[in-house]
Amino acid sequence: ENVIRVGIVGYGNLGRGVERSIGLNPDMHVAGVFTRRDPASVAPLSEGTAVRAVEELPALADEIDVLVLCGGSKSDLPVQSPQLASVFSIVDSFDTHARIPQHYAAVDAAARAAGTTAIISTGWDPGLFSLQRLYGEAILPQGETYTFWGRGLSQGHSDAIRRVPGVAAGVQYTIPSDDAVSRVRAGERPELTTREKHTRECFVVLEDGADADAVREAIVTMPDYFEPYDTTVHFISAQELARDHAGVPHGGFVIRSGSTSSEASQSVEFRLALESNPEFTASVLVAYARAAVRLAAAGDHGAKTPFDVAPGLLSPKTPEQLRAELL
Ligand code: NDP
Repeated sequence: ENVIRVGIVGYGNLGRGVERSIGLNPDMHVAGVFTRRDPASVAPLSEGTAVRAVEELPALADEIDVLVLCGGSKSDLPVQSPQLASVFSIVDSFDTHARIPQHYAAVDAAARAAGTTAIISTGWDPGLFSLQRLYGEAILPQGETYTFWGRGLSQGHSDAIRRVPGVAAGVQYTIPSDDAVSRVRAGERPELTTREKHTRECFVVLEDGADADAVREAIVTMPDYFEPYDTTVHFISAQELARDHAGVPHGGFVIRSGSTSSEASQSVEFRLALESNPEFTASVLVAYARAAVRLAAAGDHGAKTPFDVAPGLLSPKTPEQLRAELL
């Protein structure tokens, strides 16, 4: 098999993660980073990586096997995924769960018309967690599925606390409640409220002269973001924020708790503990990029989700090797 030529579209946290991940996969090669910004203003991690304007892409159809789309789910991917799937096979990490059916339809129409393969909503949630939810339900039809997120940095909630008057900077962690996780693991199959499943912890740097109590109150009562949870607010210095909170950890669990008879309760658990959410998500996208190239070569076109992709296609190993080594 030839080396797979991968284009990286969008160069934020995820885009940098994809560049790193391809460096760990000898069967793949970065064909270029493609950005909407002035390419001269974007510095790649590796000197050997070319940065080009995204407008150049359509002319490069013969030089690139697959694009990994690294834009945001809110406004980038709804435009870029269908547009680029009309020329290239693509992979994206579209994570607005409620809009996945719509996104799928738009990408599928473009990919079918063009004869490309587009795997959407890969990553870990959606992505690997979705697969675990599916396995749990299919194998243990009598049971409940629980997804817990964290301990992890939530970008949306961190942005929300930064908008509170008096806040200079801050981050927010989502934390699964120990009590809820223990009850699920014990096979109780509890009905858990939002407040019982997760807690939220904020680390906040105040502006000079800001009233700490007023800031705390504004955060913990914020509708949707914090009001439905038990939220703790810690005030720290800018130095402490830089020293202790620069990383982007995340992860969580998917637990299926079920039974196959009155005597046998069965539990299946999948856990991620990630020091870098974008680097891990990027690694999942890169494995799916390999699958997209293989599906395209086999003539299996249109939009796919992780549910539609056979696991063996993710591996650089041949089916023969996989049967001998991993079954
Ligand atoms: P970023 O905000 O870092 O990057 C998004 C885009 O913004 C980039 O592709 C880039 O496009 C543009 N951009 C980045 N930096 C700058 C800058 N300095 N100035 C101007 N524009 C910039 O987002 P992330 O990479 O962290 O995340 C991307 C998406 O990944 C998220 O929206 C989320 O949907 C998804 N995700 C999915 C997960 C899953 O499990 N499925 C998990 C984690 C994330 P350009 O180069 O064209 O300007």
